[in-house]
Amino acid sequence: MRNPFKELFQCRPSEEIIDYELNEIETEDEHIPIAFKNDSKRLKDEYSKLFKKNPELFEIIDTLNDMANKEFGKNVLITMIYRTQSEQDYLYRNSAKYAARKFKSPHQFWHGVDLRSRTFEPEEIAKMVEYINEEYNQENHYRFTADYHTVGAGFHFHIQFARK
Ligand SMILES: [Zn+2]
Repeated sequence: MRNPFKELFQCRPSEEIIDYELNEIETEDEHIPIAFKNDSKRLKDEYSKLFKKNPELFEIIDTLNDMANKEFGKNVLITMIYRTQSEQDYLYRNSAKYAARKFKSPHQFWHGVDLRSRTFEPEEIAKMVEYINEEYNQENHYRFTADYHTVGAGFHFHIQFARK
């Protein structure tokens, strides 16, 4: 497993990241590090915490980043890791199902990570989801590991894992 802190410090400042056309980055054999939405100290802190809380999920994100680097010359960008109860309530504030019976998200247990998808082509998205599910579904307590979906906050990759 790659040293997470090395990854963290390789991260470019986020203003650079969001202004990039990601496919214009020079990729000559260079590993593109995992990126974070805006310059969120919270996400970076959570990312280093994730290494302890859920090392398998940490590794999945790393593996996916490597795959996206190799296959498409792109990186993955984390938009959410941990979610509080009040954030969960807010996210589902318009859901009748949730109002009738609150449910928890894997993000509330360090079991979920969301990744930005809009920088990937539809066929790249399909490849990434399939790759992760093939690799990890069997050891996963959850029914699937990777999904491409929306929960009111726009389409994104949702990656979830807890050891069986
Ligand atoms: Zn999610």
